Amino acid sequence: MYDVVIIGAGITGTMLARDLSMYHLRIAVIEKENDIADGATMANSAIVHTGYDPEPGTLKAKLNVAGARRYEKICHDLSCHYKTVGAYIAACGEEEEAHLDILAKRAEEREIPYRFLSREEALAEEPSLSENVTKVLDFYTTAVIYPWEVAIACMENAVNNGADLFLNCPCTGIEKLEGSYIVHTPERDLITRTVVNAAGTFADQIARMVNEDPGFVIRPRRGEYYILDQDVKPVNHIIFPVPTAAKGKGVLAVPTVYGNTLIGPSSDYIDEPDDTGTSAEGLAYVRKNISKTLKNIPLNRSIRTFAGIRPASDHSDFIIEEDAKNPGFINAASIESPGLASAPGVSRYIINEFISKYFVLKEDPEAVHTRQADPVLNELSNEEKNALIAKNPAYGRIICRCEQISEGEIIDCIRRVCGARTVKGVKKRVRPGMGRCQGGFCEPLVLNILARELGISPLDVVLDSKDSNILESENRK
Ligand SMILES: Cc1cc2nc3c(=O)[nH]c(=O)nc-3n(C[C@H](O)[C@H](O)[C@H](O)COP(=O)(O)OP(=O)(O)OC[C@H]3O[C@@H](n4cnc5c(N)ncnc54)[C@H](O)[C@@H]3O)c2cc1C
Repeated sequence: MYDVVIIGAGITGTMLARDLSMYHLRIAVIEKENDIADGATMANSAIVHTGYDPEPGTLKAKLNVAGARRYEKICHDLSCHYKTVGAYIAACGEEEEAHLDILAKRAEEREIPYRFLSREEALAEEPSLSENVTKVLDFYTTAVIYPWEVAIACMENAVNNGADLFLNCPCTGIEKLEGSYIVHTPERDLITRTVVNAAGTFADQIARMVNEDPGFVIRPRRGEYYILDQDVKPVNHIIFPVPTAAKGKGVLAVPTVYGNTLIGPSSDYIDEPDDTGTSAEGLAYVRKNISKTLKNIPLNRSIRTFAGIRPASDHSDFIIEEDAKNPGFINAASIESPGLASAPGVSRYIINEFISKYFVLKEDPEAVHTRQADPVLNELSNEEKNALIAKNPAYGRIICRCEQISEGEIIDCIRRVCGARTVKGVKKRVRPGMGRCQGGFCEPLVLNILARELGISPLDVVLDSKDSNILESENRK
């Protein structure tokens, strides 16, 4: 019997799994997709918001501040990227300047560092600011991460501490017993004392498996983006417009940890909780709105567009509570932005408020808190590269020319705990296909490496989900 079964391997579920794995508990994470972090955690702005924006008194405010404070150490311990770039909130005119004062007051109360910049001071740092911008509020400790890297690393850390991960394992039903639950999936039933529903845009469907009226409905909201080539760097900081109640944080420019720039997102309610297609209207909205705060953004240097779906709901706050009729069944729902930044706070909150009611939480002295990353060729000096290649020539064979990724790095990411099993899984972990050619050259090579490493036919290698095979048949023996 498990102590905790977590449904969903996004940042909420994996962060919780990692934190729980520090205690003497039996934990399982089940994920309907073929990899960790395939939902909202895969497609977002990647910002560790410091917590100045959420309304006072909300869980969002409390857990964003708490989560952001833990992030740098977590990334350090797990060898994940964490880059402090700073965030400019760019006001256009007196009315918006007044809103900057509200945000600064919230920041003051939450002990978040900030400073005001005049138009001239801000322009000296960000020459692309538009003529409209009159004043800037700078949250200079704001950082960007690689969101799915953190989720994968958390899960790996949890598995190394004894947690079980089941991929391709959708929860199809939940049965309540006396003091426990059975979580049904097509291939196995898991018996557990407590369940945490961290199923993102599907959280209401899971909640209804135990309570016909769980008190909330997910209203998925899509955000579309452009990704610009690494060669163009229109901004040095994250540039936000002043947030509004209707459209949230608005259309931003975000310098990512790998040097690409994100421009987006749009904000549109959609019917399907997993419809990540982009649309002409969504991208037109992004183009129009970015010009409010920035000029001359080189959207013609976009290498890709993509969309992510916010697990928003009919409530404005996060919903993190035990189901009213089902003790031990905990919903972590409506985790829209700043859900990524808040995840370490959400996790601690779930443990302190709910899990601790059911178990005497004793830290496991043998639990490991850290994770070593594999070598990243691009981040090494020539001497270090040469030494590595001398030991293993696979590091000398470049597979992805755009991002300069070697065969050795791809093999490493397949062989790791929670390693890649799909072409997209390799792309998420070590980035072949993330560059200008978007996999045009390297995808067949990655496919063959996967087939060889996994001991399967190239025909059985999938792009992403379990039936997304790339090759149809052999045409040459
Ligand atoms: C456009 C956009 C921009 C954003 N920008 C930011 C930002 O800059 N900073 C920030 O802090 N936040 C941001 N967010 C919010 C952040 O991405 C989310 O809050 C966070 O990723 C939610 O994580 P999660 O684990 O709760 O959900 P998800 O990542 O969606 O994970 C839920 C998981 O549950 C799985 N699942 C669903 N149903 C089942 C089932 N039946 N059985 C098993 N598994 C199931 C799904 O496959 C999925 O993997 C943004 C979101 C979007 C969409």
